[in-house]
Amino acid sequence: MRYAYTIRRLSLLLLLAVPLAAAGWGGRLHMDINRAAARGVPDEMEGWHRYARFMASHSIMPDLWKGSDLYEGNRHYIDLEGYAPLTATNLPRDQESLRELLGKGHRQRGHAPWVIMDLQEKLTAAMAAGQWVEAARLAAAQGHYMADLHQPLHTTENYDGRDSGQGGVHLRWEVEMPNVYWRIGMMPEVHAEHLTNLWPTLLGWIDQSHSRIPEIFEADDKAARQTQFNVESRAYYFHLWQSSSNLFIEQAHRGACHLASLWYTAWVDAGRPKIDPPPDSLSEASIWKTVPLTGEHASWPFLVAFGVIALLILLLSLRRRPPPPVKSRPL
Ligand SMILES: [Zn+2]
Repeated sequence: MRYAYTIRRLSLLLLLAVPLAAAGWGGRLHMDINRAAARGVPDEMEGWHRYARFMASHSIMPDLWKGSDLYEGNRHYIDLEGYAPLTATNLPRDQESLRELLGKGHRQRGHAPWVIMDLQEKLTAAMAAGQWVEAARLAAAQGHYMADLHQPLHTTENYDGRDSGQGGVHLRWEVEMPNVYWRIGMMPEVHAEHLTNLWPTLLGWIDQSHSRIPEIFEADDKAARQTQFNVESRAYYFHLWQSSSNLFIEQAHRGACHLASLWYTAWVDAGRPKIDPPPDSLSEASIWKTVPLTGEHASWPFLVAFGVIALLILLLSLRRRPPPPVKSRPL
């Protein structure tokens, strides 16, 4: 539809103007991963299944908080190259050791893993105290950061392919491609397990995600070459999905399973408390003590543009578009 196409292009232009707004799986993926994880916890935690709606609807909030919190963006990724000579598997858990090893300024390299661990401790405490509204808000946000780290491009400095002449691959792979091809029915069944050694386990997940970056760049390069570098064409997205759908679905599934495992672990560690029914509504305010944007970042046009973009992302994520006319249907 012409109207939908125009909106898509407009949103893309706005996204390019405010790149931070696009940093995350497409909104629909965040919703689907959080929803699948809430439904995927074991039956002994079945009270949590009823929170699936809130987990989905609030999964996208952390991206929206970027518009009013200077440090929110850093919570969504880790540039592993920036932590060298440390690697994904030997990063220290405590910030003090990290400062001793690398000095100050590591926040700009992204600190999603530490955020996820801090949230795990808060979530366990909230569950133990029977504070289920608080637990729901923490869990939904944790789900967002977990999903982000299972998007391999959220673990590298070359997150948008600029270093390899593939600028824009981030948005193409995590937003544009799934908008056309991804369906919730593609999510395999989610399983959860109780985890005993959280920090190394989390680092292992990140290491695995990071290891798959070359596959995304290869798929993008191949699809671009097959379409004479017309990376906005339907044919490009068809080829991109053909080459990387397995990876895409696998990472979304791993994200949901690992998230369900974190929530189940928090509940078990909290002493398996009785889960209250979900409230009628849940606050959309940030779970963090926010540091306001300052200077040029705080201008009201930025905030207005951000709001428009957020709305467009949400609308486009919810809209189901039929796949383009191709000879064979994708997976
Ligand atoms: Zn994000």
